[in-house]
Amino acid sequence: MGGRMGCDVSQVQRITVLGATGSIGLSTLDVIARHPERYQAFALTGYTRIEELLTLCVRHRPAYAVVPSAEAAGRLRAGLTAAGCATEVLEGEAGLCQVACASEVDAVMAAIVGAAGLRPTLAAVQAGKKVLLANKEALVMSGALFMDAVRQSGAVLLPIDSEHNAIFQCMPSDYARGLSAVGVRRILLTASGGPFRQTSTEALLDVTPEQACAHPNWSMGRKISVDSASMMNKGLELIEACWLFDAPPSLVEVVVHPQSVIHSLVDYVDGSVLAQLGNPDMRTPIANALAWPERIDSGVAPLDLFSIARLDFEAPDEQRFPCLRLARQAAQVGNSAPAVLNAANEVAVQTFLQGRIRFPEIASMIEQVLDQESVVPLTSLEAVFAADQRARELAWAWLHRNGR
Ligand code: NDP
Ligand code: MG
Repeated sequence: MGGRMGCDVSQVQRITVLGATGSIGLSTLDVIARHPERYQAFALTGYTRIEELLTLCVRHRPAYAVVPSAEAAGRLRAGLTAAGCATEVLEGEAGLCQVACASEVDAVMAAIVGAAGLRPTLAAVQAGKKVLLANKEALVMSGALFMDAVRQSGAVLLPIDSEHNAIFQCMPSDYARGLSAVGVRRILLTASGGPFRQTSTEALLDVTPEQACAHPNWSMGRKISVDSASMMNKGLELIEACWLFDAPPSLVEVVVHPQSVIHSLVDYVDGSVLAQLGNPDMRTPIANALAWPERIDSGVAPLDLFSIARLDFEAPDEQRFPCLRLARQAAQVGNSAPAVLNAANEVAVQTFLQGRIRFPEIASMIEQVLDQESVVPLTSLEAVFAADQRARELAWAWLHRNGR
């Protein structure tokens, strides 16, 4: 805390980082540590990487840390005591929700992966916080409820996903009036195409989890890496864009851009197309959202256009990457379809990473679950989790039917 002595403490924003031990969490803490006069970690949360969480607590001295169980809490407390660190340890989902909506908190980075992040992220929204949203699955599952909660609480929702942060930067400040009112014709969502962009349908049958997680441009957690390889990530992002910018799915076009330098574009009716460019490093959108509407140093190197030399674009191949088609269909169907898509995908990715299903079976499993599960309106959080649960059960049933 000594580094902040002499600063006006009222200026320092207290940040809760949900998912601090993950890829986005670590990038967030890197940006925070560059600006001790502006930001202070208030709470850090981890799930399996308790040793790493201890190291982060010793370095960033948060008031709270959250872990999933009493056993993990015991281990973390012992380490904190030995290190002379006064961080208080909370447990479970209740602990996550508590640090997401505590009155001392100015902003919450929602960077837990998957459906597990929904309750704490929504708690931050309902408390009217500034919410930096990386956890796209939360919004995909509960879009209508989530955006209603944003409107009701007055929370400030800022996208961290690089594409959505790019779109946000290319939109006029009054885009909430409606996209047609502000002259937007299309949103162009860029996709790297992932590690299998040029892999044949036959070769996709034998790709391994390690190959799927070796993304050409971005270093990310394993779940989103598999999503990028299957292009489900772009499908989830399409749904995310529809909610964030109140756009019908038909207005969002996916453009494969292998260099990942243009992070997305907005096409206006006068023919202007605005793009946001930058090196593929998540610290840029994180710094953008943390400081918005100001700008701060993120630690990202300046873009060197001469070394990039060229930018390529191609149409996505929905034959080889059916997840994109499935996500677009779910976006069009609406109601519970995106939650079902997301839950089936989480089971599919988990079982692919365990070596139990082949890569193309990710899409097969999701498609069958979507076919079997009837579409219902989601008017409460309970209904969202019920749809999520039914879809997971159908996905596990698919697995057992297919002898895995
Ligand atoms: P990681 O897997 O690297 O990190 C996930 C974080 O969530 C870790 O802190 C992990 O804890 C925690 N976590 C996992 N499961 C649970 C659970 N059941 N309950 C509570 N906490 C849990 O993922 P990323 O950082 O890559 O991604 C995080 C989110 O951000 C995802 O929704 C992803 O789609 C999104 N995103 C990520 C991008 C990236 O570049 N990485 C880009 C755009 C979006 P632990 O590690 O201790 O187990
Ligand atoms: Mg993205």
